[in-house]
Amino acid sequence: MSDGIVVALDVGGTGMKCALVRPDGTVHHEERHPTLADRGPAAVTERILTVAGSLADRARADGFVPIATGIAVPGVVDEPAGVAVWSANVGFRDVPLRDLAVRRLGIPAALGHDVRVGALAEARLGAGRGRRHVLFVAIGTGIAGGLVIDGRGYPGAHGAAGELGHVVVRPGGSPCGCGLRGCLEAEASAKSIGRKYAEVSGEAGATAFDVATRAARGEELARRVWQDAVEALADGLLTAQALYDVGVVVLGGGLAEAGDDLLEPVRAAVAQRVTFHRSPAIVRAELGDTAGCLGSALLALDSLKGSQ
Ligand SMILES: [Zn+2]
Repeated sequence: MSDGIVVALDVGGTGMKCALVRPDGTVHHEERHPTLADRGPAAVTERILTVAGSLADRARADGFVPIATGIAVPGVVDEPAGVAVWSANVGFRDVPLRDLAVRRLGIPAALGHDVRVGALAEARLGAGRGRRHVLFVAIGTGIAGGLVIDGRGYPGAHGAAGELGHVVVRPGGSPCGCGLRGCLEAEASAKSIGRKYAEVSGEAGATAFDVATRAARGEELARRVWQDAVEALADGLLTAQALYDVGVVVLGGGLAEAGDDLLEPVRAAVAQRVTFHRSPAIVRAELGDTAGCLGSALLALDSLKGSQ
């Protein structure tokens, strides 16, 4: 009998990461496609379904049986209903993606939130392995979190849990895309670090990674911008720890590429702030940008078990 395989897609604002994932979490095949979000949500939806269909064909050609589809999207996602409720960068408004995928591919499907499924993958296959309470924090253009308890993601009542990026850590601080000021995302995302460095140095175009590298070399302006971001991040993580009391915080997203230049000062800044809290381990994500695909595959497999 042929082996089963999961068709997995992680849809972002600019690109889709796609994979065929075996039930043990190993990847058979990977490919990438542009999302073409500027063509509108209907076109993006059609593209997702077409890509998923061709991946299923590829799986069959390679001798596998596609058993489920897992799709991860950004924004607000109603996982139980399988609906992409809202997304700023893809433009989804109440798109029933799960049922559309079931109809197109003829196999069960699951829809998840990109960061929450990434959290699921890190908790079960990556840096959170063996821990029961895991908080994954993705720091890139924005900041978002995903809480995983005993291998299950926590979506919240409206599919909007984990928005750690919009916890206010600097009241009256930098304006945030959400309309508030001083959100963690406006103070410590990779994008905001680049912006803040440009403001103080007058040099546009330096990335957060450049700032980290220059800070490590001892450049004073970079060091200050980096340390400000680290302190804001530590304030955000302390709030999260007060609420969730996790065993491990897994830092992922583009900013985690800074490695120890990020981890060490963040650990120190959190340690400085801890009072009654039990300190979590703070570690770097292990799965890189395949976490979303792996997590959407895990979610799809979980949904198969749940429906038996
Ligand atoms: Zn905000």
